[in-house]
Amino acid sequence: MNPIFQAMLKAALFQKVACPSCKRSQVVSAQKKKAGTRCKYCGSGIPPSSP
Ligand SMILES: [Zn+2]
Repeated sequence: MNPIFQAMLKAALFQKVACPSCKRSQVVSAQKKKAGTRCKYCGSGIPPSSP
């Protein structure tokens, strides 16, 4: 597969978010980012972010 296409696909599926509580950034799926998720470091909720 084309590596550029692969990178684009990955960027579309996984996005970086910063935890509002501990400020650590982590990669979550775009779906989780939309719906809101939980910080894997401190466990506090990360609210859904609008693009
Ligand atoms: Zn956190």
